[in-house]
Amino acid sequence: MKGPGTVSIVGAGPGDSELITVKAMKRLREAEVVLYDRLISEELLAYAGPCAELVYCGKAPGRHAMPQEDIHRRLVGYALEGKRVVRLKGGDPFVFGRGGEEALALAAAGIPYEVIPGITSALGAAASAGVPLTHRGAAASFACVTGTRCHGDRQPIRWDLLAQGVDTLAIYMGVSQIAAIRSELLRHGKAAQTPVALIESGTTRKQRTFICTLDDMHKLAAAVKLSNPALILVGEVVRVREQLQQFEHQAEVYYGS
Ligand code: SAH
Repeated sequence: MKGPGTVSIVGAGPGDSELITVKAMKRLREAEVVLYDRLISEELLAYAGPCAELVYCGKAPGRHAMPQEDIHRRLVGYALEGKRVVRLKGGDPFVFGRGGEEALALAAAGIPYEVIPGITSALGAAASAGVPLTHRGAAASFACVTGTRCHGDRQPIRWDLLAQGVDTLAIYMGVSQIAAIRSELLRHGKAAQTPVALIESGTTRKQRTFICTLDDMHKLAAAVKLSNPALILVGEVVRVREQLQQFEHQAEVYYGS
């Protein structure tokens, strides 16, 4: 009898389909089944072989397309049929991606699996917005934080420590909670004038970037109808973007004349 197939839990990167790793691409080409999430681009799926079965398991905000347990069951099921399975997830599978839960389910079922990292959206969005997450003299640390707690997840976010102890905050899933996040950070002593970048659909052709302060970020988000996927970057490093833009302007003038 044929043994179980393998499952590759693969990070697809932040949006731009070219930001996937060579290893991930290889697995995608060889896959017989690809289970993919909502934010995965069509271009990436096109790299799967013509015979590969494509299974959508994404979640629209507020709606569960497929419960997590069903995803686990399917991953195990396809592997037991001896298939080469790719579980394709946005960004990195282990950064707010539930990749850990999927790995645990596979390990518990005795299925061979691997995890292939991806560029998480904080890195992608920061790069394409021109905001370095660390910068000499401005930031020696950054943290990736979720702005939304899952149901039943009782572990509190330590906004007090984050406000005081981390230089740059990259806040995922924060759009719907932006007013509450602002209040928490201000309450715990983050300066109201701390610059903020709101980056929607980072690294994609639809990217929109807005700069404001911590104090007015909720108002700007509402005014521009900031929508998911979006990342909130809080910290002095946001000012580097302006400096870069000045140089870009000079360069344009220089090369243009
Ligand atoms: N595993 C993913 C994160 C999944 S959580 C990763 O490593 O990136 C989903 C959240 O990621 C979104 O709510 C948003 O905050 C962020 N996100 C994903 N893609 C993004 C993009 N292209 N631009 C900005 N934020 C993005």
